[in-house]
Amino acid sequence: MSETGVADRSRSTTPARLPALEPLRATAALLDRRIPEHGVFREFVARRAVQGFFALVCLVIGFQFARFVDAISRPDVPVPVRPPGAEAFLPISGLMGLFDWVYQGAINVIHPAATILLLIFLAMAFLLRKAFCSWVCPVGLISDELARLGRFVFGRTFRPWWPIDFVLRGLKYLLLFFFVQAIVRMTPDALSAWIYGNYNRVTDIKMYLFFADLSWLAATVLAALALGSVLIRGFWCRYLCPYGALLGLFSWISPTRIHRHDDACTQCGYCDRVCPSRLPVSRKAVIRSVECTGCLDCVASCPHPGALDVRFAGRPLRPAVFAAVLMALFLVGWSGARVFNVWHNEIPAAEYRWHMQRLDEYAHPR
Ligand code: SF4
Ligand code: SF4
Repeated sequence: MSETGVADRSRSTTPARLPALEPLRATAALLDRRIPEHGVFREFVARRAVQGFFALVCLVIGFQFARFVDAISRPDVPVPVRPPGAEAFLPISGLMGLFDWVYQGAINVIHPAATILLLIFLAMAFLLRKAFCSWVCPVGLISDELARLGRFVFGRTFRPWWPIDFVLRGLKYLLLFFFVQAIVRMTPDALSAWIYGNYNRVTDIKMYLFFADLSWLAATVLAALALGSVLIRGFWCRYLCPYGALLGLFSWISPTRIHRHDDACTQCGYCDRVCPSRLPVSRKAVIRSVECTGCLDCVASCPHPGALDVRFAGRPLRPAVFAAVLMALFLVGWSGARVFNVWHNEIPAAEYRWHMQRLDEYAHPR
């Protein structure tokens, strides 16, 4: 109010900045920054930071799981807690657990974390597109780095001729269909018997031993996939990953989308060149494709402010907010599972030791 009692509209109405929020603002500003790379490629610090965090988590889980398997392989060693996060690498078990949950009304106690993590990632796909693939998955990170190597060595990555690319892209949906139809065709009792069977009880250990003691054939296949990712950006994710295919289908109904604004866009085509999913971003007003991973590389690489952004239900989202929502989804899901006691499984150490003696006898049920 002025001395006359009339509101003085000439004064600034900007709300006071709370000093306590300054560290938060500084972090958000840092996360919103872009990291320049080779040529026109740019990434947001936010994506690298989140990817780095989850890579670290995977390394810790891998180390803990190795210690656990070593301990149950010997009779005289105290058994450390098995990290339930290892079940993130059991997506099929997670999907079976989801169907079983619906049929039985309770989550299974063999690999509950696999189902919880699948639910978290499906929620992520709904809210943030396939952000799991480009922000969380360690295979996505390795794939990014291999493509970077390809750009460094060859100056570019390659694109198969479009009809071949189209057919290859269908493979991941075919694999997804194969798994889903196999699960759907099982009766509730058969599904439950599979989940509680010996093979599924130790499937995490079998998978760990598969990678820890790699056969020549498996090593050759992995090397071929790695070479494919050096030459073709996102080779595994684009053509073969059924998990990504499933998340993509959920992302189709996501309210989060990349928007291009004609008034600021100069048609420079940078966004098309950096898009790992090879989407024609410069020719669309809104990206709705199930192939969009929400990586935001197109937004980071666009040189014209206001030409391209990511929006949730039409409202612009800062990369830092995108990252915060993703982390919040993960943390809420993870802590909720712990609170409701559906995170750790109920297989005692003595039973694990018993299974370890018979591991070779357990074949995949047909
Ligand atoms: S959206 Fe940005 S990067 Fe894409 S064509 Fe327009 S100006 Fe270029
Ligand atoms: S459209 Fe943009 S956000 Fe979607 S995959 Fe391509 S580069 Fe990433």
